[in-house]
Amino acid sequence: MGKPRGFIEIPRKDPGYRPKEERIRDFNEVEKRLSDDELKEQSARCMDCGIPFCHGCGCPLGNLIPEWNDLVYHGHWKEALDLLYSTNNFPEFTGRVCPALCEAACTVGLNDEPVSIRQIEISLIEKGYKEGHIVPKPPEKRTGKKVVVIGSGPAGLSVADQLNHMGHSVTVYEQDQKAGGLLRYGIPDFKLDKKVICRRIDLMMAEGVVFETGVTIGRDISANYLLSRFDAVCIACGAREPRDLKIPGRELDGVFMAMDFLSQQNKRVGGETFAEKEIIAKGRKVLVVGGGDTGSDCVGTSIRQGALSVTQIEIMPKPPENRADSNPWPEWSYVLRTSSSHKEGCERMWNIMTKSFEGEGGKLKQLRCVKVEWETDPAGRPKTMREVPNSEFIIQADLVLIAMGFVGADKKGMICDIGIKLAKNGTVAVDGEGMTNVKGVFAAGDSVSGATLVVRAIAGGRSLAVNVDKYLKN
Ligand SMILES: Cc1cc2nc3c(=O)[nH]c(=O)nc-3n(C[C@H](O)[C@H](O)[C@H](O)COP(=O)(O)OP(=O)(O)OC[C@H]3O[C@@H](n4cnc5c(N)ncnc54)[C@H](O)[C@@H]3O)c2cc1C
Ligand code: SF4
Repeated sequence: MGKPRGFIEIPRKDPGYRPKEERIRDFNEVEKRLSDDELKEQSARCMDCGIPFCHGCGCPLGNLIPEWNDLVYHGHWKEALDLLYSTNNFPEFTGRVCPALCEAACTVGLNDEPVSIRQIEISLIEKGYKEGHIVPKPPEKRTGKKVVVIGSGPAGLSVADQLNHMGHSVTVYEQDQKAGGLLRYGIPDFKLDKKVICRRIDLMMAEGVVFETGVTIGRDISANYLLSRFDAVCIACGAREPRDLKIPGRELDGVFMAMDFLSQQNKRVGGETFAEKEIIAKGRKVLVVGGGDTGSDCVGTSIRQGALSVTQIEIMPKPPENRADSNPWPEWSYVLRTSSSHKEGCERMWNIMTKSFEGEGGKLKQLRCVKVEWETDPAGRPKTMREVPNSEFIIQADLVLIAMGFVGADKKGMICDIGIKLAKNGTVAVDGEGMTNVKGVFAAGDSVSGATLVVRAIAGGRSLAVNVDKYLKN
């Protein structure tokens, strides 16, 4: 514990964002960084709890948070980085985009602001790169076993990284033109600069991982072929099948899925071309359906593209400003979150259901909506919804982006070809060791858990690597 009374004497400090007027003109990262002195001071707020909830209850990776906080306070940056790196393959990703489940579980957060754990994490890894500590470290010996990973999102990258360091020869197949999965084609550059992904992929390649991009397994190469060529197959294909809004008028020009819109912009920033019809918010009245993070990314992207107005609607009620009694610490807090994108100029509405898209000459002009109200269960959670009588109203919009989540893994192609069994929710079914019903075929990440978070995908990839290694040794 750096400073015994640190959590009493020192207030939390966040680095904040670049000024709004500046950041909406580009796609560069919006978040600023704390200085080394500020970070040391922030690490002093850690109480080195006997039971560190940040580590055990909050962080899916089990990051050794109180230990690195203490090392940072005493200026032992390299040792702190080594500890961080021992549980997290890619702190440069989580340090930028993680909602910080650790901070929601931090004991200081019981009656004050939690320790700035994510800020310490991002600074440790970036300092590590800058000072030359992050260099290729290929395994000393190879085992002779060959593993194929399908998908290069955070789950695929972490299983590949771990298995490569264990000495197995790893090939990653990716259907997109570049590796990274949703890190590259979902999350906007203003949250995660894609140079950060390239830097990591270059490092993994220098350590011996082979990347084959622009190859769809199940179309360009059959899954059966991979089964005959590799000792183990790891599916890390994500859960990208989007939930659609099948209401009258869905066919109108102007109604698109959020991911189609976001991936086009990420490709534009990355200098890639695409064959699909261009979706651009410039000069349009944008309506985002879905109040989650993907919706928030659509808001920030639309504003940067020059939308006339941006509105985000959500069917659920507005979350409370503070934790409800039914949502106590150290659980993840279901409270109102306002992202940097929301602050850039967007109207947000809750308790709204869309009834139909309406247009003229095949082009979208407006949405017919209705207000809803929710009955809550005894714990205060929304349970049953009903429409408010006579509450119908119109929202003018000529671009709608549907950001209503995902319904599971893509079932076509590879998964069908080799008869992989699915769970009821549309994800890949695996046993306690991460193996599917097909011997030697494993799965991890969103393809197993359903759409979730980068940190959980990395954690899933890491634990799968342990099981695959055990299987290969047997
Ligand atoms: C817009 C958006 C914003 C998000 N923002 C955040 C955030 O800020 N913080 C956060 O923690 N999480 C965020 N998430 C969630 C997070 O990105 C995912 O949970 C995470 O990327 C899942 O990792 P994964 O490796 O399991 O799958 P993915 O990242 O989806 O990667 C799967 C990869 O498999 C490839 N693939 C699929 N099928 C095949 C095939 N047949 N052959 C070859 N390749 C194939 C895909 O092309 C893809 O590259 C966001 C998600 C979205 C959609
Ligand atoms: S819960 Fe908070 S105060 Fe306690 S060890 Fe973790 S970071 Fe430090």
